[in-house]
Amino acid sequence: MPGIKLDIVTAERVVYSGDADMVLAPGAEGQLGILPHHTPLMATLLPGELRIKKGAEEISLAISGGFLEVRPDRVLVLADSAERAEEIDIDRAEAARKRARERLSQRRELGIDGARAEAALRRSLARLKVAETARRRKSKR
Ligand code: ATP
Repeated sequence: MPGIKLDIVTAERVVYSGDADMVLAPGAEGQLGILPHHTPLMATLLPGELRIKKGAEEISLAISGGFLEVRPDRVLVLADSAERAEEIDIDRAEAARKRARERLSQRRELGIDGARAEAALRRSLARLKVAETARRRKSKR
């Protein structure tokens, strides 16, 4: 079965370039499931987990938002940032989560930009989720 040609890039690097059987991405209007021959589409992505299925293998990435474009011959993801599970610094993500939660709880007193703190919280939760899922998968093996 012909797969999907998938490229995931950030401003800094190519994070993934290869075939996939299925791509699951956190679309702003709901979870997107892309199979081969999907209709052309442009969608905004939220911070979350992007999953690439290929045979028995599954790669999970934490992305911090961006765009996904389905073209007739390929799928392109332009992400603000994207990390594979093994690249995620868990302590850093936990510190970011704590900081964002504190800022959200103090936003009235400090006049903080709530949307910005919420976005930072979502990015940290996406990273922690991807790192945790990979850890669990590993311990099952
Ligand atoms: P922080 O507050 O810890 O910087 P952030 O959500 O503001 O987190 P981003 O602006 O999304 O960070 O990312 C900046 C760069 O740092 C990107 O290249 C991203 O891949 C990387 N990065 C951010 N957090 C982590 C992490 N926990 N582990 C590995 N790389 C990270």
